[in-house]
Amino acid sequence: MRAISVAVSVPGLGPLTYAVPDGIPDPSIGARVLVPLGDRTVTGIAIPAADLPPKGGSDPPSPLRGSGEAGAPRTSDLGPRTSTEIKPLTDVLDEEAFLPPEVVELAAWVAGYYACGVGEAIATAMPPRAWVETERHARITDLGEARLLTERGLRRDVLEKLAGGRVVSVEALARKSRGTHGALQTLARDGLIALTRPLKGRADASRTVRVAMLSTQGHESLEGGPRRGPRQQAALDLLRGAPDGVPVSDLAEQNIPNASVAGLVRLGLVMVERRRVERDPFDSGAHPPAARPAVLELTAEQQAALQRLRDLSSRRRFEAALLHGVTGSGKTEIYLRLARDVQASGRGVLLMVPEIALTPAAAATFRAAFGARVAIQHSGLSDGERYDQWQRIRRGEVDVVVGTRSAVFTPLASLGLIVVDEEHDGSYKQDESPRYHGRDVAVVRARSANALVVLGSATPSLETYYNAQSGRYALITLERRVLDRPLANVTIVDMRAEFATEGPDVVLSRALRDGLAARLERREQSIVLLNRRGFATAVFCRQCGDTLECPNCSVSLTVHKAAGRARCHYCNYSLALPKVCAKCAGPYLEQLGFGTERIEQEIRAHFPGARVGRVDRDTIRRRGAISTLLARFAGGELDVLVGTQMIAKGHDFPRVTLVGVVSADVGLGLADFRAAERTFQLLTQVAGRAGRGEVAGEAIVQTLHPNHYSIRHACRQDYASFYADELHFRQSMRYPPAIALINVIVKAKSRANAIEDAGEIASAMRRPGLDAYRILGPAPAPLGRLKGEHRSQLFIKGSQRNTMRKALLTVLDARPDLKRRTIVDVDPLSVL
Ligand code: ADP
Ligand code: ZN
Repeated sequence: MRAISVAVSVPGLGPLTYAVPDGIPDPSIGARVLVPLGDRTVTGIAIPAADLPPKGGSDPPSPLRGSGEAGAPRTSDLGPRTSTEIKPLTDVLDEEAFLPPEVVELAAWVAGYYACGVGEAIATAMPPRAWVETERHARITDLGEARLLTERGLRRDVLEKLAGGRVVSVEALARKSRGTHGALQTLARDGLIALTRPLKGRADASRTVRVAMLSTQGHESLEGGPRRGPRQQAALDLLRGAPDGVPVSDLAEQNIPNASVAGLVRLGLVMVERRRVERDPFDSGAHPPAARPAVLELTAEQQAALQRLRDLSSRRRFEAALLHGVTGSGKTEIYLRLARDVQASGRGVLLMVPEIALTPAAAATFRAAFGARVAIQHSGLSDGERYDQWQRIRRGEVDVVVGTRSAVFTPLASLGLIVVDEEHDGSYKQDESPRYHGRDVAVVRARSANALVVLGSATPSLETYYNAQSGRYALITLERRVLDRPLANVTIVDMRAEFATEGPDVVLSRALRDGLAARLERREQSIVLLNRRGFATAVFCRQCGDTLECPNCSVSLTVHKAAGRARCHYCNYSLALPKVCAKCAGPYLEQLGFGTERIEQEIRAHFPGARVGRVDRDTIRRRGAISTLLARFAGGELDVLVGTQMIAKGHDFPRVTLVGVVSADVGLGLADFRAAERTFQLLTQVAGRAGRGEVAGEAIVQTLHPNHYSIRHACRQDYASFYADELHFRQSMRYPPAIALINVIVKAKSRANAIEDAGEIASAMRRPGLDAYRILGPAPAPLGRLKGEHRSQLFIKGSQRNTMRKALLTVLDARPDLKRRTIVDVDPLSVL
């Protein structure tokens, strides 16, 4: 019996084994198959058989290897089974691979490395609408009806079920008897039945339009035939001028109804055919075209960097490089030229950006350079657009893909170059399973594709810089801005002194107010950053001391003044802003702390004439809202842009000469070993938004911790000193990149249970004599309660991820109930 391994999109589930019924050819690796799972039928992807060692990738061993006996799903959820009980698959949806085999391999690597189910990882690699839960249908033909009585056995049974023109699903037909698939195949071959997979069904989510065209007869009738009624004649006249046809919907807009077209079709004068249309995200106007000079002359530094990258890329083997270039040093131009080379050599290019909605410039620049040969992939697109773009890539109509995190799984063939722009950005890490880091997966993909991967940043992550220092990555540096524009001049405002002179309620320091006034006067633009949204961060009763807390999470509710509500930023619970204290009924509620909504109000109050816009998650809920706001700012319709870290990312606004940072230390109080790194990156990046045009820039940074090394070094844009200090901290505290870290969070109904369960994991992992790793904890997680669940935490620290991961999974696999409540985060970015 033939058996295959299948990945299905069920959390935590490893590969499953199914039998291939007679009459169905073996599915290719990467093909979609329909399989029974419990009482459902679900889509899966055929993956390499469990006993075949996978190609490439050394750390970790692929999860496909040695993954259980044939026939048995590995999780005990589904109950143990023996190979005699292997269920047959229901149908094979694709004749050829749907996901390219190299993407299947990559997803399998992700599942192994990040300790999640292979199906979850594969699901991440799939375009939307690719999971089909319907199946093929069978229908009897005229010949089948005629021959029905001469058939015997299974063939007769099938024909009888279909007699009278009933359309029955292949699954329903095959349910009773195993040989049915074979019978269906031979009946279809002999023309007695037709197997259909409705094109308009969900197996193919392309959009089609009906296009009308003149037939030969139609052309002739125009030459001398009788004139038709006014509507039909109008249609014929229109179609004569359109050799490629006219969409029927366009005809309807010209007052030519469907009925008239149908009449012409019946007369044989007009043909209507279905054509696939691409839903093109570039048509929606969401990405303004970049206004840029046609040809730039590279600076000497850019030229040297490009030359080194060209050398690396021409080796046509795996190479990794860090392009460390200060903000405004012209990295995009280097990517673009390198991409052209690679395209010319016949290989594909993947450009990854943290968030396309926030960096429309990258997509537009590449679109301008590569025209229709570029596709974009990100979650801001509609499902239809994403699906179509994915299919174009899959069909090989595209050489360059610009996308976010999940684009690392793009079905682009023969990759030659992957660029990960702003590689330090936290958006590359997915904060739900699979908890993969797009940059790290990009490196793995480049390795198996023998491609060059370029990681670009002005503020590289500690991990990447560490790799560059140790020689694993080539280090290429751009120390200067293009056109010798100076970096912004940074002033630190010590808010403790400011409070002493201006009072405790001051939000915008005197220096920042003066700076804004001067910009407004000179008609220059300003950006004001505060990495916290909302109006106030807490509501506090002065009478009884109670604060407004989320009933589900251990955090206080944030005041959203315009909405008149207090909201939890973790679970979205909200209530109308109370007028009196819920506990003591006292009327003395006070709001503490402030967020971007308050900053916007303060600026409007100080500068009534200023045109102020705000970018944070509250103002950009609507699709496209952020592009509109940023485009208005770029077009000079706004004077001041207030926002969270979203506005710090990769934008190029030449008219911005002032960047203000309110509460630069927002992140420093968090119990997270990356707090200093994040603060440094954010400050450096946002300061880098100033002075990118003709006029030099200035940044004003308000802080309560002017001497903290992350703030001091950021103000001097001194990456090397920051790296040295931070690496020293990580080494002495044993944090990445000095060691490998796995964060384990256990969720439970009560705090005590959470601690107890985590304690069990810890003690099972602490075996005497084992010094490959150390376990810290259990302890309550910094976010001790989230969405109604109590959370406790363990850290596993060591040098070998493999050993650490294996020890953890051994413990968890023995306790499926506990495993379901446990979050395993390998290489965590945040440990809250
Ligand atoms: P980075 O990504 O390194 O911060 P960008 O790639 O956004 O910098 O480049 C900053 C600006 O400089 C862009 O407007 C870009 O068009 C421009 N630029 C890049 N290279 C040159 C050059 N050699 N000469 C003039 N302008 C350049
Ligand atoms: Zn909550």
